Amino acid sequence: MTDLLDPASRNSAEQFLRHHFQGPLVGPDDTAYDEVRAVWNGMHDRRPRLIARCTSAADVSAALRYATAAGLAVTVRGGGHNVAGTAVADDAVMIDLSLLNAVEVDPGAHLVRAQGGCLLRDVDAATLAHGLVCPSGVVAHTGLGGLTLGGGYGWLARKWGLTCDHLLAAEVVLADGTIVEATEDQHAELLWGLRGGGGNLGIVTRFTLRLRPVGPVHYHTGVHPLADVPEALARYREFAVAQGPDLHATAALKQAGAHSWIPERLRGRPALFLTAVWFGDPADGPRHTAPLFSAAAPDATDSRVLSYAQLQALGDHGEPHGHRYFTKSCYLTDLTEGAVAQLADTAQEMPSALSSVDFEYLRGAIGDVPDAESAFPRRDAPYICTVSAQWTDRADDEANAAWSRQGTARLAEWQYGGAYVNYLQDERPGRVAEVYGAARYERLAALKRRYDPDNVLAGNQNIPPAAHPHA
Ligand SMILES: Cc1cc2nc3c(=O)[nH]c(=O)nc-3n(C[C@H](O)[C@H](O)[C@H](O)COP(=O)(O)OP(=O)(O)OC[C@H]3O[C@@H](n4cnc5c(N)ncnc54)[C@H](O)[C@@H]3O)c2cc1C
Repeated sequence: MTDLLDPASRNSAEQFLRHHFQGPLVGPDDTAYDEVRAVWNGMHDRRPRLIARCTSAADVSAALRYATAAGLAVTVRGGGHNVAGTAVADDAVMIDLSLLNAVEVDPGAHLVRAQGGCLLRDVDAATLAHGLVCPSGVVAHTGLGGLTLGGGYGWLARKWGLTCDHLLAAEVVLADGTIVEATEDQHAELLWGLRGGGGNLGIVTRFTLRLRPVGPVHYHTGVHPLADVPEALARYREFAVAQGPDLHATAALKQAGAHSWIPERLRGRPALFLTAVWFGDPADGPRHTAPLFSAAAPDATDSRVLSYAQLQALGDHGEPHGHRYFTKSCYLTDLTEGAVAQLADTAQEMPSALSSVDFEYLRGAIGDVPDAESAFPRRDAPYICTVSAQWTDRADDEANAAWSRQGTARLAEWQYGGAYVNYLQDERPGRVAEVYGAARYERLAALKRRYDPDNVLAGNQNIPPAAHPHA
């Protein structure tokens, strides 16, 4: 490859960038700076040296080469949703992919090509026009990039698997600025690592993803007062594990809002919401979802047929940009009485009315993908639990973070081990090694040695090239 950037030449790194970079460059003196550096989690008020708003893979390459030559750290911004705020760092170059949001659907081949800065809603809007969808997360303003590279749980995961299981190919800008296409035939090991390995192996400028057919769904939710939690969750456990892949059931402990179907007496108090979504023929839905509520009757229910787009939009307003967030998450082996009692206590002690404790039974198609096909670990984890603190006042930071930490720590006895890489926040050394397990961790480190030996792309939950479990 021609060496476009010769630091010893008369051109400074800045001149190189201005010559080779086509998109907007935003610095601290620009009016757009505060808007563009902001990420979803308002806790992370960081000031990058430069924001390179890329408009092509060539722009990404130029920005990476500039940062390396200038000796600056790099962060990559997809949708900006990572709870740890890994898209932005003080004094670094933020490689902002948010202008790279074009989507091209090939309905005949059941494929979508989505640029690296797409949000889930960009992809859904294009594919749903053809009655197709790539299974992804449950909040439409999440970034496709970070979500796919870390895994991608969502409503359809039990039926079709994770988002990363649908990744067929990727255009990747490597740490040295080279642009490659990773497929099953070329850079196949890199493709393996991009399927859930966490996103430090290269910058993906285009994802090629498999699509699945989707139609209207039957949605059924019920609300229980906290006093009913033991009985209702015992039923949830029995129900969820007995279902086939067309049914996905979730549970959430959160404050009951002022929706018309929620009884006045429950509003403004922590309550348990159980939800079942049926992905088979909607006409059969009530028969399949009603048994979740038969043994422990909720105080009220809401049951209707939704389009997939409506289902995806349900979570869009609950976690707005700019609020303060702290999340701890773990896998659980089982929802035993002991675990349920701890979850109920956590809900009772919630310091903010905006927070929630969410958990759901996983398995289904997630576990059907052979381990060798992706870097995504712990496919057989039975339950995932997330203790999500959300608040608005900086003065409440410590109380909310402590609540979230305590909420998962008190589940230690029932934890399955590992964690979902996309939900990691402040972690102890060695946590990423625990997430992947020794063999996967070393395989990912070997990929880093090959594709990013100088660890240029380190601004995320990182696996350094010289893998050491405590790094
Ligand atoms: C409200 C909300 C709802 C969520 N719901 C779900 C859910 O339903 N299911 C689920 O699995 N997860 C969910 N998540 C977690 C989500 O998967 C992670 O937060 C993920 O990191 C978001 O990706 P992003 O591109 O928006 O993040 P960003 O903060 O932009 O990026 C995070 C990291 O990902 C890497 N990255 C991003 N894009 C690229 C790219 N194109 N190429 C290379 N590296 C890249 C970078 O290293 C970056 O540091 C949710 C998060 C939020 C905030």
